[in-house]
Amino acid sequence: MFNKYKRFFDNAYDGFAILDLSLPFEVTRHLDVNQQFCDMLGYTKSEVLALGPIGLIHPNSRETVRMHLQGHYNNTQSQSFMKSIFIRKDGTEISIESKLFSEKTKSYHIVFGVHRDVTKKYYMEKTIKEQLAKEAALRKELETQATEKSNYIRLIVHELKTPITALLAAVELSKQNQGCELPELSLDNIYDSVIALDKRVDDLSNLAKSQMNLLKIRPVMLNLADLINQIVNVNKPSFQRKGQVFNTDIQPDLPNIYADKECLFSILMNLLSNAGKYCGKNGKVSLNIKQFGDDILFEIADNGIGIEPNNLERIFDPYDRIKRISKTYSGLGLGLFLSKTFIELHGGKIWVDSVLGVGSKFSFTIPNRQPPQSVEE
Ligand code: ADP
Repeated sequence: MFNKYKRFFDNAYDGFAILDLSLPFEVTRHLDVNQQFCDMLGYTKSEVLALGPIGLIHPNSRETVRMHLQGHYNNTQSQSFMKSIFIRKDGTEISIESKLFSEKTKSYHIVFGVHRDVTKKYYMEKTIKEQLAKEAALRKELETQATEKSNYIRLIVHELKTPITALLAAVELSKQNQGCELPELSLDNIYDSVIALDKRVDDLSNLAKSQMNLLKIRPVMLNLADLINQIVNVNKPSFQRKGQVFNTDIQPDLPNIYADKECLFSILMNLLSNAGKYCGKNGKVSLNIKQFGDDILFEIADNGIGIEPNNLERIFDPYDRIKRISKTYSGLGLGLFLSKTFIELHGGKIWVDSVLGVGSKFSFTIPNRQPPQSVEE
């Protein structure tokens, strides 16, 4: 019946198949198929003709195909477009897009299908979609990083500017009062500002070193009692000035330990200054130190604002501060990160117990033995 078009039928790029619509889907057979259709599925022509559509279509697609054929059978459509999955002779799946045209005469009722293998097209579409999603996620991540970087630079500038502004004001005052002695308060301001500036520059320099894996410790045999005395004496006045109570409970016969004096000093200063900063006026801060097995255990507790449970892990992250920039509390957010790094270089551990609104206790250990990383800077 299609002899006129047989040359096109046989030489087309797409698979052509003519199906008998007068029989139900489950038992119907192809009346004719072209070579391209057979090649697509890996069967010979006689195998395709013997199998019928049910033997070629993936079980998940059978209902779709059946519905389309039913539509054509009911004469409700003479043309339709269908996406389905066929199964090749070797068992692999093949995605096919089909255009179906049906024709009903007195002598036959057929559906003529033009089938195209779109497996590669679907694969490409899926891969492109996945790549686009990956690219979008990466772009978002880079944008977040860029924003965080510029926020961090703003934070650094702000934190360095604050003590400089106080210093400038004090210098201004001394210029205006040349020859006169500076008032006590102004000297205190200068001292506090220089200390704050020095600490922030040190923290930034240590952050840079830690990022390049250059942060080292220089442990020596240390008289712990002397160091603790020094710490207590340095901190007492600043707690007093803020009306805060500072209690200490230090085990009297603490052994000497092998540690980096400057690091241990800065860890304790940082944890005590945090305790003072976050417990506000009239708060209570305590420092307890005792031997704990082979370690020395340091505990710094306060009855301040406490820490939200969700933030307990993140407070040791150096860049976490930018996500919760605080107008109330100054700081670069590096103190805990650097303290943790220094403690771990000594072979110790740091952890925190905190209840929001009740207070926090930071505990850390320094092993009473030579640390694993006894390295010169
Ligand atoms: P900074 O105090 O400069 O932000 P730190 O690294 O010392 O940086 O502390 C990180 C964060 O941990 C602080 O921003 C604060 O949210 C929280 N934190 C640290 N110590 C305390 C404390 N004693 N009480 C409540 N929160 C604290």
